[in-house]
Amino acid sequence: MKRQFIILISLIILSLLFPKIGFSHSNKVLSIRLWPSEEYVRIIVESSKYLNHKSFFLKNPNRLVLDIENIEIDSTIIKNIENIKITNSYIENIRIGKRNLNNFRLVFDLKEKIDSQIFTLKPIASYKYRTILDLYPKITNDPIKAIIYNQKEYRNNKLEEIITNLIKDNDHCDEKNNNINLTNQKIIIVIDPGHGGEDPGAIGVNGTKEKDIVLSIAKKIETLLKTQNNIVTYLTRNDDCFVPLTIRTQKARLLKANLFISIHANSWIEPGTNGASVFALSKDKSSSIQAKWLADKENKSDLIGGVNLHNQDEKIAKILLDLSTAAQIKDSKRIGAILLKELEKISKLHSKDVEQAEFAILQIPDIPSILVETAFISNPKEEKLLNSDQHQNKIANAIFKTIIKYFKIECNSN
Ligand SMILES: [Zn+2]
Repeated sequence: MKRQFIILISLIILSLLFPKIGFSHSNKVLSIRLWPSEEYVRIIVESSKYLNHKSFFLKNPNRLVLDIENIEIDSTIIKNIENIKITNSYIENIRIGKRNLNNFRLVFDLKEKIDSQIFTLKPIASYKYRTILDLYPKITNDPIKAIIYNQKEYRNNKLEEIITNLIKDNDHCDEKNNNINLTNQKIIIVIDPGHGGEDPGAIGVNGTKEKDIVLSIAKKIETLLKTQNNIVTYLTRNDDCFVPLTIRTQKARLLKANLFISIHANSWIEPGTNGASVFALSKDKSSSIQAKWLADKENKSDLIGGVNLHNQDEKIAKILLDLSTAAQIKDSKRIGAILLKELEKISKLHSKDVEQAEFAILQIPDIPSILVETAFISNPKEEKLLNSDQHQNKIANAIFKTIIKYFKIECNSN
């Protein structure tokens, strides 16, 4: 016992005297990933332990520097970084350099001044420690994103004005052919392709990722809705990037959307489980154990995808939680029932009724909001279906028809 104690004390003293020899070399960079998108560029440094880092800007020319200390980086990772071709409007190039033995420097050559944010996520799911560096353009073309990211030029503008302009920009109405029964009121539909970026969502046995399927379906819905003069469509993400759940709901609220539809693909341990299902929010009890399990799983999306606390507007989040949602749930269930009837024509149903659970993504008090699980990606047959363009078109069409029926829109024939 005494001998063990002496060895332990000796080890502690050794590690204090020679920190670089003792434990510092055991932290390794496992991967460096890049998620470029319209909205922001996300750089992930995944390491076996917590990463010591420092970031700062340099001028003339504009550069962002990320120094990482006491770390081992494999030469293939360095090569991969050097081979990255950036097709982004505000990053020119990424370089990695060795400062001394175990200290590295990542340099981002910038075309313009940008905003950045860095934060660390503890291990979750299959990920180890992730140091996340988000780069935002100072000026975005999307006014809704600008409001959310609190960009200066939009800070003093009136929200109403911005929304009116956005709707005008989205207006694809051809005045010469405008012979259909239209009202001046535009119906604003927000389509939310689930997951994205670091968060793949559910993964099928053949490797199909939920995030890719749902983005493809969302774009198909958008194409269909664009044929309608009195509908304005907005996608919460347009590419493979992660958008935190509250940012998605904030987008819908800022737009004063008439309907919010979150698109997903389900998974279950039993590969035979199949069929589509539709969910509305529940403020207390879930309609089934599986619905609760699913909501818990979908709510973890922020942790896996990487929440950016910088962008969370606490006030908005609080308002969202405080407001009553009874009317919203009633309307959501009505739309959900129409959608189930449409989905029944093209696929099996997992549940014939609209189910309810506490989905964070559906916490939008004044906007009818539904979540549709298009099929089970964990079922090999349905994974194949989800991959087929034809079936994706059918799902998109079912959702399109639901919107037309719910809002009693006289359909444009073009
Ligand atoms: Zn999902």
